[in-house]
Amino acid sequence: MALELEQQERIGAAQPQEHVQQLLALEARLPAGSAERMEAVSQRAALLAQIRDRTGHEAAIETLKTWPDSSPLRAQVPLALMLAKAQWLKNNGQLGAGIRVLAGLGELDVTTAEPRMLYRATLLRGYLQSDYGEVDASVDSVGKAIEQARAMGSTWRAATAQVTLAFSYFRAQQVDHAKQILDEAMTAAQLDPDPVLLYNVYTMLAIVHSQDADTSLNKLGGEQALRYAQEARSRYLEALALGNLADFELRQENYSRALDLSQRANVLALQLHDIHTEILARQNMGLAKIGLRRLEEGKRDVMQAITVDAQREASSYTADSWLELGRYLEKADDIAGAVDAYHRSRQLFDAVLRDETRKAMLEAQARFEDQQRQREIRLLNQDNSLKAEQIRNRDLQLKLWAEVGVGVLLSGALLAAAYRRVRRTNAALAQTNESLRVQSERDPLTGLANRRHFQKDVQAWCDAQQGLRGSLFLIDIDHFKRINDQWGHAAGDSVLVEVARRLRSVLREQDLVVRWGGEEFLILVRSENTEDARLLAQRLLDQLGGLPVDHGPLSIPVSASIGFASFPMAPSGLTLEWERAVDMADTVMYMSKAHGRNKAYGVAAIKATTREELLALAGRMESAWHQGQVDLISLLGPQMEERT
Ligand code: GH3
Ligand code: MG
Ligand code: MG
Repeated sequence: MALELEQQERIGAAQPQEHVQQLLALEARLPAGSAERMEAVSQRAALLAQIRDRTGHEAAIETLKTWPDSSPLRAQVPLALMLAKAQWLKNNGQLGAGIRVLAGLGELDVTTAEPRMLYRATLLRGYLQSDYGEVDASVDSVGKAIEQARAMGSTWRAATAQVTLAFSYFRAQQVDHAKQILDEAMTAAQLDPDPVLLYNVYTMLAIVHSQDADTSLNKLGGEQALRYAQEARSRYLEALALGNLADFELRQENYSRALDLSQRANVLALQLHDIHTEILARQNMGLAKIGLRRLEEGKRDVMQAITVDAQREASSYTADSWLELGRYLEKADDIAGAVDAYHRSRQLFDAVLRDETRKAMLEAQARFEDQQRQREIRLLNQDNSLKAEQIRNRDLQLKLWAEVGVGVLLSGALLAAAYRRVRRTNAALAQTNESLRVQSERDPLTGLANRRHFQKDVQAWCDAQQGLRGSLFLIDIDHFKRINDQWGHAAGDSVLVEVARRLRSVLREQDLVVRWGGEEFLILVRSENTEDARLLAQRLLDQLGGLPVDHGPLSIPVSASIGFASFPMAPSGLTLEWERAVDMADTVMYMSKAHGRNKAYGVAAIKATTREELLALAGRMESAWHQGQVDLISLLGPQMEERT
């Protein structure tokens, strides 16, 4: 029976309708109140959630709620309910609510919890957190699920969880890490394969290799996934696999093939009432149409997908979708549409990062306190070499956080908490920790200030009404991904270091220079004068793009796109909070991208008399410019030598 149930658990999701019936038949044969029977009900509830059979699902919940009091399994009912409810919420797109339900796992005694359900609930939590944009929390949850799977001696469960972990890392743009985890999943899957597991592994193979210059693994993953979906005789998985293959063809710019595949996926998804796949298919259909220059129709499809996604609270997907839409519109020469889409994507990413960081900070602090305290006190009471080791450990901890994407912003807070405690315990370490704290406001690669530092310092640049005063520049290296792809990651790093040096060479001590993101930099200078800003922007373009960057024997051509604005804004003298000011610089920076790169656009004046008007015009910069409501400065970078 246990084996039969495990079989159901492994492949049930491929054919949910059929397996609901099989599980019902199985339940009838299992002793009332037994662990196996509860497992069968729990699995059935999951499948009912998958097919969104509300009546059936509610009945299953009722069965769990009225579990016989005499059964020793009675204590597992809260776990079973949590899992079933969260599965329902997941399949109805209520990610946030699902995460809140599963927060109950924290109060559960994991040593007595039923291991199979505990594993499923923990993994589901990680999955939802990843979709919700809570990357670090997701990594934590999925890591626990992997441990639980191993403790059960279950290779296929560990592999399943590793696939999710790879996805979380991929989301955090830790692509190498994602690939490495997926290798482990692949090895584990081969030890104990089934078509659903292999479908999952190969789908993730396609995803983590989707940004490679060499497309072969991406294609292989997609094709194998379709093969295993068919082997599992699963329309669900087949629809997903078709959608993913359409994605691949889109990247190859084979738009008519992409349209055909995504339409096939869409037909299946509609038959199955599978909202997730439908969104994916709809989005790909839209992008393919944009590629085929059927712009209006295509935009409508993509917007529809984004709207449904936004209703599902899936912030990380929505931000990605806007970004992707922007890229396609840019290729199709719809500049205004592209700028708008890029900008919306950015606002969402920033919001995810900000909210995420705040939440994660509180949780992480508590966790850090609990786990490290004992060990730290022990170490502190021992000799100096151990103290050094302790610092190294903390460094590792910081790296881990940096890797999960929240970055040094969060590490700084962790460190600050640790710092206070260490001071109490051992004053001798204070010096070292102080220097670590300083480091945590610096970007280790370029030595520039990081976002955390900026967020602390920017207050000093704002007036009593929180309005930013000064000129703000947002700088983004052009086609940096190509630099990495063509010359290697180390060369990319060299370029970043050199760009930072060139920026500093143009600026003065009192200016603020920040590594804003991967290949983005932000500069804030005191001058509120548009003419000064124009001169500085031109010098920045010239310095950044004037000479190639040397990396060993390589000579790497570099250019950047810049957006800038001075506050208070001419002619009315309105100011904005720094976040809005950065948004504005961001919008014009994307205009520089969309208009061909190696350029700068600056906002010289906006004909607005109120803050609301100002924001409204800034929100449609490109068209407001064409209509004469916005004055833009437009600058060109140095001529590039022909690239061969
Ligand atoms: P665009 O001209 O539109 O800005 O294109 P882009 O390729 O510069 O932009 P995109 O945002 O697609 O790619 C930025 C890349 O920068 C992706 C990421 O892998 C890479 N990157 C981010 N941080 C680092 C880093 O610290 N070192 C290296 N080598 N690469 C990085
Ligand atoms: Mg960028
Ligand atoms: Mg770039």
